[in-house]
Amino acid sequence: MIQFVGAGPGAEDLITVRGQKLLMEADIVVYAGSLVNPKLLDMCKETCEIFNSAYMTLEEVLEVLIHGEREGKHVVRLHTGDPCLYGAIKEQMDALDAEGISYEVCPGVSSFCGAASALKAEYTLPGISQSVVITRMAGRTPVPDSESIRSFAVHQATMVIFLSTGMLGELSKELIAGGYPEDTPAAIVYKATWPEEEVHHCEVRTLKETAEKYGIRKTALIVVGSILNGDYRRSELYNPAFTTEFRQGKAE
Ligand code: SAH
Repeated sequence: MIQFVGAGPGAEDLITVRGQKLLMEADIVVYAGSLVNPKLLDMCKETCEIFNSAYMTLEEVLEVLIHGEREGKHVVRLHTGDPCLYGAIKEQMDALDAEGISYEVCPGVSSFCGAASALKAEYTLPGISQSVVITRMAGRTPVPDSESIRSFAVHQATMVIFLSTGMLGELSKELIAGGYPEDTPAAIVYKATWPEEEVHHCEVRTLKETAEKYGIRKTALIVVGSILNGDYRRSELYNPAFTTEFRQGKAE
């Protein structure tokens, strides 16, 4: 059995209890060294063999996973945040299926949640936005034409943009072309939940200059939307006049 484990967004105590237990039991760990906090590896056994996948191809990763599993070892593949977002786990799982090897996935706290905590933000505010678009600019990995930033911007919902810190001028243009007013609030969250976390508030039109001012080139998320400017309706759920399954509302 191979365990795919979400490491969380950065802080080493933001892995799940289950993920921590799997790491403590592991005989082999292959971790995504470009973003996983190496301090997490301190909880591994002294005898645990550790591989950094930043220097490896898919084939090399699979060889370590499959070889370890065939020797009856506890094998953990440690991915940053939650593995379901930009994690490249499907290709690993498909290869394991082809070999008849079973695996499980342990979720993690994604960086988009870490960024919300850094911002002390609620992405879904009544009367403002009830949806979150998680996307990226096209880079060396293409994005389908039907999913352009411009097309999502039409909705003016909350948007969290991954993997795009090097393209902020273009990102602003696309957001504005799609319909966000230029002065829509935005934020750059660098290394959310790491000790070196930085939060910079700006506007959609000033993303690039803000990143340049603070020297931010990677490991950041861009959050866009009116949820960042403090205006909203209070919730119905906690409204005294609102009846729910658990509570009888009182007439005003
Ligand atoms: N599976 C991961 C995302 C991997 S893609 C997750 O759930 O978070 C890598 C991108 O995620 C980075 O380029 C950056 O845009 C973002 N990212 C990952 N960790 C981050 C963090 N702690 N703070 C800000 N952005 C982060």
